[in-house]
Amino acid sequence: MKIAEFNVRCYVCWKQFLIPCLSEFSYGEFLFVNYKTRKFRYFNYFENENIEKIVTAKLNSDSTFENENNYKKRDIRLKLIAKLSDGEFEPIFSNVKCPRCKIGFHSMPNNRSGMTNIEKLTFKITNKKSMVETINELSL
Ligand SMILES: [Zn+2]
Repeated sequence: MKIAEFNVRCYVCWKQFLIPCLSEFSYGEFLFVNYKTRKFRYFNYFENENIEKIVTAKLNSDSTFENENNYKKRDIRLKLIAKLSDGEFEPIFSNVKCPRCKIGFHSMPNNRSGMTNIEKLTFKITNKKSMVETINELSL
């Protein structure tokens, strides 16, 4: 998946680093990151109907999520997707953490450097299990 990459600067330690960014019109698409390897992954709801079904079923069956607002629910969905995925990935909510000081507070991604190729988030382990089993085991 080709995704635009931008130069940003950390507001805390001033290190410059590259981050991938989806366009603001990318409905249903999200980026995930593994901070140990600094690898990024791409996720699209439309290509992962099975995962969407699992996450929706989990949200609907767990009363602790009942009273959350829609923004919070979106974040919970992404965290659940990360749990279901292969590898140690976490959703990127706004800022990517700096590789030096590990704080996520950087400049706006308005300085494009080029395109980067990002692999899709995979769910090999989840896909081997039944949906009921997956929902029962899933927690934040
Ligand atoms: Zn920094």
